[in-house]
Amino acid sequence: MYHVNNNGYYGRFGGAYVPEILHRCVTELKDTYSDVLESTSFGKEFNELLRDYAGRPSPLYFAQRLSRKYGCHIYLKREDLNHTGSHKINNTIGQILLARRMGKTRIIAETGAGQHGVATATVCARMDMECVVYMGKTDVTRQHVNVQKMEMLGAKVVPVTSGNMTLKDATNEAIRDWCSHPSNTYYIIGSTMGPHPYPDLVARLQSVISREIRMQLLEKEGRNYPDYLVACVGGGSNAAGTIYDYVDDNRVRIVLSEASGKGLHSGMSAATTQLGRPGIIHGSHTLVMQTDDGQIQEPYSISAGLDYPGIGPMHAHLWETNRVEMLSVNDNEALEAAFELTRLEGIIPALESAHALGVLGKLPFREEEVVVLTISGRGDKDMETYITNKK
Ligand SMILES: *Cc1c(COP(=O)(O)O)cnc(C)c1O
Repeated sequence: MYHVNNNGYYGRFGGAYVPEILHRCVTELKDTYSDVLESTSFGKEFNELLRDYAGRPSPLYFAQRLSRKYGCHIYLKREDLNHTGSHKINNTIGQILLARRMGKTRIIAETGAGQHGVATATVCARMDMECVVYMGKTDVTRQHVNVQKMEMLGAKVVPVTSGNMTLKDATNEAIRDWCSHPSNTYYIIGSTMGPHPYPDLVARLQSVISREIRMQLLEKEGRNYPDYLVACVGGGSNAAGTIYDYVDDNRVRIVLSEASGKGLHSGMSAATTQLGRPGIIHGSHTLVMQTDDGQIQEPYSISAGLDYPGIGPMHAHLWETNRVEMLSVNDNEALEAAFELTRLEGIIPALESAHALGVLGKLPFREEEVVVLTISGRGDKDMETYITNKK
């Protein structure tokens, strides 16, 4: 009941609201993706690349000092150790294999923090495909190392100057490009958002995370499920991958975090479930932060990867049906959590992942409870922010 139905809906959320000109592209993708994902040749190539190129399985690490601090058993799912530094590579490997099987020759992508752009440019280099990445100009400035990486990998990075020049605006521009080149271009969306079938496609490509958790927990704890799963939500892909195999298992409490920026009601936030209403953003009907007259509200978070005014339709549905709890974590709480993890465990997390760590202090754990928290990426790209906001 939590997975997508044949029409592309999760409860009342989802669907494919695209301009006429993209209708054929989206339909072609919808009619192709499931068969490709379920084929043995795709499975073989995908799994080999995940293992030998991305470095999977990512470790499930028992964080002893962090566990002592919060009075429970905390395991960290180390997506930060993947090639290119986050979970994004799982999805880009899968989608570029799909694009090739569909005969596409040109790849476009949007990016916020630059992690999805780098992961896309990386697989395009590996597969020798043309790559154009749209990125808000604000993000080009605050994530310039990732821009340099994309360029070194051979991608063209296009700075976007509309809106407040972040992820939402980059996504608009990528959709515009797709409309102009519908026949040869494949659009690799970086999260569980966009028109059907993207949310389901991305969730399935990321679901390797929860399959690994199941096997690794069985080995370490003697049971294959935790009491809690914790992850941060921008569009929702690392969270979707973390919970995918557990959504129907009611023994598992799922706690997700969204960014409340400078405070939930400060006007500078990205806490979509708390502040949003149903609406349409980037091709899907979901929760959207919007003004009284339905204009999309400019979001804000210290973390570029969470600075988005929507949330995937799957997550909107899981939240509305109370299957997941959504907690807000502000800039300051995330910074404190990042420094705490660094000092206790010697792991510098991405600012996005620090928002997942920020919920630990808000939950009443019991000593014997098992918590699996996904570290979605590493903190290298956020060093400037950490240095200037030292805790
Ligand atoms: C992109 C990104 C996110 C947010 O995207 P989701 O689709 O919600 O996972 C979180 N963490 C890191 C490290 C990222 O790069």
